[in-house]
Amino acid sequence: MSKETLAKTIREIPDFPIPGILFYDVTTLFKNPSALQELSDTLYEMYKDKGITKVVGIESRGFIMGPILATRLGAGFVPMRKPGKLPAETIEESYDKEYGKDTVQIHKDAIEPDDVVLLHDDLLATGGTMEAACKLVKKLNPKKVYVNFIIELKELHGKDIFSKDVDVESVLTL
Ligand code: IMP
Repeated sequence: MSKETLAKTIREIPDFPIPGILFYDVTTLFKNPSALQELSDTLYEMYKDKGITKVVGIESRGFIMGPILATRLGAGFVPMRKPGKLPAETIEESYDKEYGKDTVQIHKDAIEPDDVVLLHDDLLATGGTMEAACKLVKKLNPKKVYVNFIIELKELHGKDIFSKDVDVESVLTL
């Protein structure tokens, strides 16, 4: 399946969750067996030689491909969640959103210094969420941090927010 065909499996929903936002709905990609297989294969090819030991999925749409990819790479899976959801000791990072602030948390013992980490989420918009996720993971001093999205919205230039030591790649650029 070509990238173009894969992109066509993503549903676009105008005015969700609020008027003026065009929402890219990846559930229509996930429910399509060939598209899901293609995405899994593409992600595997992108990261198979990077020595990834932990895939970190961002709540909640990063919890779908994250574990699939972790299994294929022979890596562990770590959830990064909104406050108050993780049961053991956590560390956190807050970031500014268009309206107000948000916070992400991770278990303190989820990443070790010898880990090579791949952070995964469905979509890169402004980059605020993933940049906070990167800062949080870096507090646990992994060897290297990779960042991956299924979709990158190129007009928003979210990639520019990341520091140069982080390797940022997307499967589809829309
Ligand atoms: P950012 O922090 O501005 O880059 O926004 C990215 C976050 O918002 C990610 O966690 C996405 O899952 C979510 N998000 C923003 N827009 C969309 C969309 O159109 N489809 C799916 N998720 C979105």
